[in-house]
Amino acid sequence: VSCFAGQKVALFGLGGSGLATALALAAGGADVLAHDDNPSSVEKAAAAGIATADLRTADWTRLAALVLSPGVPLTHPRPHWSVDLARLHQVPVIGDIELFSRERRALAPNAPFVAITGTNGKSTTTALIAHCLKVAEKDTQLGGNIGVAVLTLDPPSPGRHYVVECSSYQIDLAPTIEPTVGILLNLSPDHLDRHGTMGNYAAIKARLVAGSGKAVIGVDTEPCRLIADGLESDGKAVTRISQSDLRSGVGFDGAELVRRMPGQGEARFRLAGIGSLRGRHNAQNAAAAVAALTLLGIADPAIAEGLRSFPGLAHRMEEVGRIGPVLFVNDSKATNADAAAPALAAFQRIYWIAGGLPKEGGIASLKPFFPRIAKAYLIGEAAPAFAATLGERIPYEISGTLAVAVERAAADAKAAGEDAVVLLSPACASFDQFRNFEVRGDAFRAAVAALPDVEGTRG
Ligand code: ADP
Repeated sequence: VSCFAGQKVALFGLGGSGLATALALAAGGADVLAHDDNPSSVEKAAAAGIATADLRTADWTRLAALVLSPGVPLTHPRPHWSVDLARLHQVPVIGDIELFSRERRALAPNAPFVAITGTNGKSTTTALIAHCLKVAEKDTQLGGNIGVAVLTLDPPSPGRHYVVECSSYQIDLAPTIEPTVGILLNLSPDHLDRHGTMGNYAAIKARLVAGSGKAVIGVDTEPCRLIADGLESDGKAVTRISQSDLRSGVGFDGAELVRRMPGQGEARFRLAGIGSLRGRHNAQNAAAAVAALTLLGIADPAIAEGLRSFPGLAHRMEEVGRIGPVLFVNDSKATNADAAAPALAAFQRIYWIAGGLPKEGGIASLKPFFPRIAKAYLIGEAAPAFAATLGERIPYEISGTLAVAVERAAADAKAAGEDAVVLLSPACASFDQFRNFEVRGDAFRAAVAALPDVEGTRG
């Protein structure tokens, strides 16, 4: 990125995306001074040719910007010391998505750029849009919070499409983000530790759609409905999306997405039978994708084919195997009760593997789904508490480990001899038994693959 060519820039946070950002800035001619509280990250950056220095003793009067990694606190619970120093010297604090936005404006301001935010569904929607664009044979770059640093993508050029997942942290650090299409999926009181209040959190996410050329907003949560109303009363065109029927926008009737957008005839896209987009929450994600792709001028047959062939993301209601009528589903990403709810809502006769490191509130909020549970297999530290919540009416056993739970659940589901699902949707963090939710999901997939008679569901 060349926006700081010939200027001195401080960079704090040298994790994966931080280092990529430092290298991109240096390649663009900036004089980068990088730092991290973790000495091994500093060493790695130095080895990669980045100048490192303790920013506490740097001459801040000569710095053009502080570039911050999204993991470093900007406001809450209190700003990182580097942010305090930057503010003291009136040095702007920005992140890699801001740098990308400036580079795009400089090189190819019309390169289509879709930015996606919200509390839940960001990665699925981002991946789905990118998949559909590829089906439509567009040059497609996928990055951001989904795990690919934006500055490692191919540089902006006309016709190159960018699909970028943005966390609220990243939006906070991108004051001039101006996507072609900005998507706000939903807002629930999550991440308040970082942003303090719901009002502040909503305001940050609202900025993404307010700054976009065209706004796509999910109206299934109250804060988003208010944001959509506010933008419309300011005269901005908003495409509404929902997991239910909508008079205008893209909604869902239980089997098909229904699109009613100005200048477009009514169109329907079938979702029933697409395993990777199972569940009402995914209907909302797919509705967002249809809205955005339509606004980008992608033709309907490519959208329909993209939805149909979307392989889904790992660890999110991922079908990992089948034994006759028994389906095995990996939803390891569900690290709290809210995230587990869509999976429990999507199936009947569930042999449910749950537990791990408990989160506040436990699984009490999942009680409406308990009638769908044929039996629960409890693992990890949360097992006793979950057992108490399940009570006497829902059969359960304390399996202890994931390996035992898979074996027992598979045996019971097979013996029942009817359509059933063995579902890992733990409603817990994984850290008591696994390094992260991906490792937990991989362990589940491997345990399922090792079962006798199992058929893979794809690939
Ligand atoms: P994110 O990237 O925002 O964390 P993902 O696409 O990775 O979202 O989905 C994570 C989990 O959130 C899913 O397993 C599902 O349980 C839930 N989820 C996905 N989409 C939605 C949605 N639109 N509304 C509510 N919950 C959702």
